[in-house]
Parts: sequence; structure tokens; C-alpha cells
Amino acid sequence: MQRYSNKIALITGAGSGIGRATAKRLASEGASLMLVDRNEDGLQQTVSELPEGAQVMTRAMDVSVEAEVEQCVADTLANYGRIDVLCNNAGIAGGDYSIAPEQSLETWQKIIAVNLYGVMLFTKYVSRHMQEQNAGAIVNTASVAGIRSGAGGNAYSASKAGVINFTMTSACDLGQWNIRVNAVCPGLVETGMTQPVFDYARANNKEAKLGARCELRRYGRPDEIASAIAFLGSDDASYVTGQALAVDGGNTASLNLPG
Ligand code: NAD
Repeated sequence: MQRYSNKIALITGAGSGIGRATAKRLASEGASLMLVDRNEDGLQQTVSELPEGAQVMTRAMDVSVEAEVEQCVADTLANYGRIDVLCNNAGIAGGDYSIAPEQSLETWQKIIAVNLYGVMLFTKYVSRHMQEQNAGAIVNTASVAGIRSGAGGNAYSASKAGVINFTMTSACDLGQWNIRVNAVCPGLVETGMTQPVFDYARANNKEAKLGARCELRRYGRPDEIASAIAFLGSDDASYVTGQALAVDGGNTASLNLPG
């Protein structure tokens, strides 16, 4: 499949995990890329894994800083002339599992800044350009944590619920310019973010438990999330907008009743 030939895609959080897998998938389908991450080494590793001949730019930056986002979008346009697909994928979990009475405002500010402001800022500057093109696709990486509680801390879950609602709102804002906005909601996937969970489970012989609550009885791989992102960003999804697609092995389909 070459659904992305002659298309320009900007992917945030592309220095690891799901973002790296998305970069590889879109490049393999012909996309030219702007890869964004705060981790320069991670970006270079991603570049080294792209198919030979892939067109790629990288930008080490913080997605929650407005001036950096504005500059990144301007530089992408200066180089490529257009942006067809935006993947707002950068995110942090924060590692704070405090319950409601013990929450820290600092944790909330940190997580909301990356997971929600970052998505809003890139959407703001890229959609201005997509309006002029009268075309574009935006795919946000939310989470099953934004649909159900219980994965990540409460700030993380609230941020991802915000991403899902912002996805729907943006789809309504931008549909008249032929700009589609969708989200993927991954279940548990082994990446940099979840590595401590996997390391702990393996050290304690509990790896099988990690996928046990999914109807498919296993956790997911980054490339399985990337293929859903690639679908939503492509013309195959030309009549899909405002949706949050759970890519979770059936996890959120079930009540997971005990027994
Ligand atoms: P990851 O840690 O491997 O990748 C996230 C990337 O985002 C990292 O390279 C990190 O450097 C980058 N990043 C973080 N903050 C940034 C910032 N302020 N500016 C620029 N880059 C920044 O984790 P991942 O699992 O691949 O995460 C990708 C997305 O998937 C996140 O939005 C995450 O919330 C979401 N997600 C992951 C899982 C999972 O199980 N791994 C499940 C649901 C949702």
C-alpha cells in the first residue's frame, strides 16, 4: 500500500514507542515526515529505522511550548510546502497514582501541559494551514484511560478524556474545511512509557497477567497502534471524523466482571 505517496506527515512523540512505529509505517507507505520529540537521541534512532530513501526532518522540542510549536509548523511548511497529516502522539503518564484526596497540582499541570496543551497547540497551527489547503487529517493518540478509569493516574486519565473530547470538538470545528480529526485509544502496549510495568511483571513472572483482561488475551504492539493511525490519517478513512477508535484487544468492550 502506498496511501501516503506525495503526503507530508508531522508526528509528535516520534522518538519512541507508538510514534516511532507510526513514523516507520507512514514512511513505508510513501510519506515524507517531520518528526518531533523532546528526545534528540530517540529521534535519531527512529530516523535510522526508516526505510531507505525516506524523506525526513526532525525537531527536538517541547510540544507544550507555543512558540516552539509555531516555529516547527512554519519550518515544516517552509521545507515541504504543505502538511497533510498531523499525528498528535507525544504524551507522558507521570507515574503518580495518588487518589483524589492526595492529588498534586504540579503533577496535573505537567501532564495536562504535554497531553492536552501539546495536542491543542499543534492542532491550532497546523489546522490554520489545512484550512488554506481545504484538506487534512489529524489523528490524536488518546488512551483507553480516557474512556474508563483504572489505567494511569487520574491526571493522565483526565488528560486523555480531554483529548477524546477535543478530537470531537475539533472535528466539528474543522469539518467544513474538509479536515478530519480522529483519535486512537490504545490499550496496554510495550513502549518506553510502560517499560517499568513490563519490567516489573517479567521480574515477578506475571507477564501473562498483563494481557489477561483483554478479550484477545494479550497486550498490544506499537505497530498495531500505528496501523490504526495510518488508516485514520489516510484517504481510506475519508468519511470518518470525530471518532475515538479503541485499539485495545477488546479491553473496553467488556465489563471484566470477576470470575
Ligand atoms: P513513549 O514514552 O515510548 O513515547 C512518548 C514519546 O513522547 C517519547 O519519545 C517522549 O520523549 C515524547 N514526549 C514526551 N513529552 C514530550 C514533550 N513535552 N515534547 C515532545 N515530546 C515529548 O510512550 P508511547 O506509549 O509510545 O506513547 C505515545 C502515546 O501513546 C502517548 O500519548 C501515550 O499517552 C499513548 N498511550 C500509550 C499506551 C501504552 O500502553 N504505551 C496506552 C495508551 C496510550
